[in-house]
Amino acid sequence: MKQLIALIAEHYAGSLSPTFFELMTFANKLKDASQPRPIILMLGEEIAEAANQASRSTGCDVVAVAIPGLAFYNSETYKAVLLAVLEELKPSHVCAIHTSNGSDLAPSLSVGLGAACITSVEEVRIESGRVKFLRSVLGGKAQAVFTSMTDVTVVTIQPGCFERADVCAYSGDVKFIHVEYSSNRMKNIEVRPGPGCDSLLSEAKVIISAGRGVRQKENLDTLFELAGMFSRSAVGCTRPLSDSGQLSSRRQVGLSGAIVSPDLYIACGISGAQQHIVGMQASGFVVGINTDSKAPIFNHSDVCVVADVDEFARELIKAIAKYRKNPLI
Ligand SMILES: Cc1cc2nc3c(=O)[nH]c(=O)nc-3n(C[C@H](O)[C@H](O)[C@H](O)COP(=O)(O)OP(=O)(O)OC[C@H]3O[C@@H](n4cnc5c(N)ncnc54)[C@H](O)[C@@H]3O)c2cc1C
Repeated sequence: MKQLIALIAEHYAGSLSPTFFELMTFANKLKDASQPRPIILMLGEEIAEAANQASRSTGCDVVAVAIPGLAFYNSETYKAVLLAVLEELKPSHVCAIHTSNGSDLAPSLSVGLGAACITSVEEVRIESGRVKFLRSVLGGKAQAVFTSMTDVTVVTIQPGCFERADVCAYSGDVKFIHVEYSSNRMKNIEVRPGPGCDSLLSEAKVIISAGRGVRQKENLDTLFELAGMFSRSAVGCTRPLSDSGQLSSRRQVGLSGAIVSPDLYIACGISGAQQHIVGMQASGFVVGINTDSKAPIFNHSDVCVVADVDEFARELIKAIAKYRKNPLI
């Protein structure tokens, strides 16, 4: 079995997805110096620009399949075409980013290739010649270590866990190939932009973010009151709060929400799942408030407050009000 790493590149409107460069870093950690450079696979309708960008910025060879009508991801077409290409290339690893597309594609490719499928990987280590893939489990309280028992392994990596690779000084080759496939059961007719990030959230210097530990509507009101005590502030939330309609999805911070970088981020009743951390890890100073002293959010907090969030928020509001009246206290 050839030790060849194949990377599936996501692209949009003629540009490579920025997370692709995280995938590149992962591939460089995975391969040892004796192995050839990874090969990049790309599918789509108009992919020349993104394919050239990939070869120029990574120094890797790109195999591109231009498919009329494939403006957006389609799992059936991607699976059929990629399996045909991968059966020719015979890579040892097939890697994608754990986006909605990557996580949709990986299991079907692994079934087609008879490969192990290890998803949402956050770290990779080579120990005694064995590749070990690590990812958070139990809401971030523990780390699971996986190793593959098959010749081919399909891996997805969690966005935000690997640095972005530097741009390479030399260029690889781009090869356009034609692939015969039959795929007609599903057609993507439109991709609608999501609500996007609340402009308040992206511009806020202070974000008070609410998680499931906030529990009741009245407690949310307390957090809005707390946010109101700072200028340029906003209330953010975790995905369960936006999924349940308690707060607008425009306030959601994380992998499928906004990426924020305020000076101060107060995480209120938030466990600290990796998908949330990805969105707030660039914050300047983080205060975590949680009743569970082992909550993973504390691994990312500058100040860890083990307390009931509502009680603590009320005390904080009182303390700030008192300080504002007499800043010398
Ligand atoms: C593909 C995918 C994308 C995702 N995208 C996102 C995303 O963009 N953003 C996001 O946030 N999540 C996202 N998630 C969900 C994520 O995995 C977690 O489920 C979510 O972040 C957990 O939210 P939470 O911390 O509010 O809830 P929980 O994990 O239930 O945590 C609640 C916390 O509150 C604490 N608590 C309970 N009572 C109190 C109290 N009285 N006072 C203080 N603390 C208390 C608990 O100890 C616990 O730690 C995504 C998941 C997937 C699979």
